[in-house]
Amino acid sequence: MVAPDRCPDNPTSIAERYLMHLLEPEEEIAFEGHYATCSTCAQVLEAADEYVQAMKVAAERLRTTRK
Ligand SMILES: [Zn+2]
Repeated sequence: MVAPDRCPDNPTSIAERYLMHLLEPEEEIAFEGHYATCSTCAQVLEAADEYVQAMKVAAERLRTTRK
């Protein structure tokens, strides 16, 4: 569970699941409220975003080359 006033135990995993919309709605809201005020988690989220985007690009490439 994400508490608004402190970092989650596993911010990378939370950030990845947040970006893939796999968090529970209340976790999503709590994490949104937290990273807005936490530079550590904002950085983690930025790094996770690049990773998720890269995964999406890779998946897209696989789909289009496998035709
Ligand atoms: Zn944090």
